[in-house]
Amino acid sequence: MQEIRLLKTGCSNYSRKEVEIISEVMKQGGLLVFPTETVYGIGADARSDVSCRRIYEAKGRESDNPLIVHVDSMETMSRFAHTEEVEMMPELEKLWPGPLTVIMRKKDGICNTATAGLNTVGMRIPDCNLIREAIKVSGVPLAAPSANISGRPSATRASHILKELGPLVDLVIDGEEATYGIESTVILPEGRKCTILRPGAYTREDLLKIFDQVEFGGSEGRPLSPGTKYSHYTPEKTLYRSDREAIIKYMEKNHGKVLPIVTKETADILGIECMVLGHSDKPMEISHNLYHCLRQLDKSPYDHGIIETFPHIGYFISIMNRIERASVKLEE
Ligand code: AMP
Ligand code: MG
Repeated sequence: MQEIRLLKTGCSNYSRKEVEIISEVMKQGGLLVFPTETVYGIGADARSDVSCRRIYEAKGRESDNPLIVHVDSMETMSRFAHTEEVEMMPELEKLWPGPLTVIMRKKDGICNTATAGLNTVGMRIPDCNLIREAIKVSGVPLAAPSANISGRPSATRASHILKELGPLVDLVIDGEEATYGIESTVILPEGRKCTILRPGAYTREDLLKIFDQVEFGGSEGRPLSPGTKYSHYTPEKTLYRSDREAIIKYMEKNHGKVLPIVTKETADILGIECMVLGHSDKPMEISHNLYHCLRQLDKSPYDHGIIETFPHIGYFISIMNRIERASVKLEE
């Protein structure tokens, strides 16, 4: 097996030397796997077609699915995108560093491979001091989608993708577990209105504090996020989804054959081996554990799994977006 270059460090607990190692890889147009507060990213210089092409190849990502560009500051963002055209930017800025991606008109510096030929770019400032520092020191804007083979659950720990992506990149930064565990909220702002192209860690309620109107998706004729049309987040084994009551009934007949991926409360009622997502009133716990649980299902001896569903409210909307795309509805 090809050697994997691994750097064990943390987003806030790192040395000057480590920042230099990372920024050197970035300056040379290399590929790196790195931690963020949402999920792990696989990134390279957003100005270089050659480097960005390697990201698509490593992931097996469709070439019409643009990458998010990560920067260290508003100043850097303004060098690469028309931030001045976003009316609510002074308010949006306050959500960074954080799990928000804003679609804007791009400037020339960002290569066409990073934006899949679009004249817009999705930009964000990630909440990982180490990565922001490396971007600042290297001067390299980092184009980075989630670090996973396309279609599979995103990685929330370096160990999730070490075998599959490790040999294909120049450096794997093994930092802490991703706090949120699901991807950023992608928005298209238009004046005092905004469209959520992909729900994520910032909710519609958070955005309604800034915009007069916030819609999901985009009605006909409006640009949608290209990535949302592809299958996503799916484990290798079949995963069903259902609510707590149906899972309890289903498990009476399927005990020992199916792995329940459920809340702590449901696991307590079932009293059998389960993957626990977290407490039902703690969505952050659930999102943090979600992809890890999906990956554990594939490693388990069970033939398939069944995952608990949640009401479409607040942050659970984003969690359900991932669950619905990762699973099939249990029909009884
Ligand atoms: P990933 O980085 O794998 O989490 O995916 C990034 C998401 O952002 C995908 O759904 C992309 O389609 C979306 N995205 C990135 N850039 C743009 C853009 N310029 N316009 C619309 N959606 C974008
Ligand atoms: Mg992704």
